[in-house]
Amino acid sequence: MFQLFSYKTFFFLSLLPHLFPARTIPGTLIPVDLSQTATWHNFVNLIDAGKGFKFSGMSELKKYFHRFGYLQNDEENFTDLFDDSFESAVVNYQKNLGLTVTGKLDAGTITQIMSPRCGVRDSVIHVNKNYAYFEGEPRWGRSAHAKLTYAFSGGHMINNLNFSDVSEAFRRSFSRWSAVIPVNFSESDDYPSADIKIGFYEGDHGDEEPFDGVLGVLAHAFSPENGRLHLDVAETWAVDFESSKSKVAVDLESVATHEIGHVLGLAHSKVKGAVMYPSLSPRSKKVDLKVDDVVGIQALYGSNPDFQYSSLVESVMSSSWFIVVNPLKWLTYLVTVVGVLL
Ligand SMILES: [Zn+2]
Ligand SMILES: [Zn+2]
Repeated sequence: MFQLFSYKTFFFLSLLPHLFPARTIPGTLIPVDLSQTATWHNFVNLIDAGKGFKFSGMSELKKYFHRFGYLQNDEENFTDLFDDSFESAVVNYQKNLGLTVTGKLDAGTITQIMSPRCGVRDSVIHVNKNYAYFEGEPRWGRSAHAKLTYAFSGGHMINNLNFSDVSEAFRRSFSRWSAVIPVNFSESDDYPSADIKIGFYEGDHGDEEPFDGVLGVLAHAFSPENGRLHLDVAETWAVDFESSKSKVAVDLESVATHEIGHVLGLAHSKVKGAVMYPSLSPRSKKVDLKVDDVVGIQALYGSNPDFQYSSLVESVMSSSWFIVVNPLKWLTYLVTVVGVLL
């Protein structure tokens, strides 16, 4: 039986309007009590905390910051006090995620913290203020035209989707990257020898990056030339929100496209609209590479000879709603595009 909305759940949802944004499919959604299922929901109690405050639950938030690369302390020593080092961590987090830098746990920051996200740590190696690489800037091969194979682990798949739907979602995701760089991807049945190994895993699965149940961390992948790409089996993975009514459904293709970016060598971007931004709301899609993603990956691999920036600009131009809804952001975006073209 599904539970009806509790007051607490409603409060939680009202604080997070962006969890169910414009691309949500209208219709009857299955109500889910997120307070019982969603990882990190308790952090809502810490809104407005700043330096000097002592809050029950702050030590858990410090573990979160430690997990994603913002606090270096031993986890055993984390207290519930909002101290200097935690303030620095909050500032760095806000800078890395493109948030307003306040050094406090304001509503925008807490909302971002509670959003489902990728398990890969946020990078400190920003080539410029937007896209980023892993330490040492690793990439696959150095030949002009790389050919990489990918395969799915037969023993680590999901039941709620057909294999053909999973395979097709990944095929589309790989094709977005191969369209912009001179790298070809092909699916293989030979899992042990495939370059990129894909599977759905539960909890602690042997790589010291345990998954955490519904929402929270959705997936993670390893930098080149490791090739492992893991998704949390506990998520309600979806390829079509018309048929997947759950409020916690997560778009497989969006997450696949993001994780393939890691497999190729991109770390997390500060640009909220970029595929390589670390978080993704339930019931939302983000599959089209943005200028930041394209510039970042092409700086590593070069450009696919068939790729033209004009096609990217045209796809941006076709989003006319964007001009109407947010003209200032649109102007910034155009300036970025023009900057790239020049
Ligand atoms: Zn990521
Ligand atoms: Zn893993």
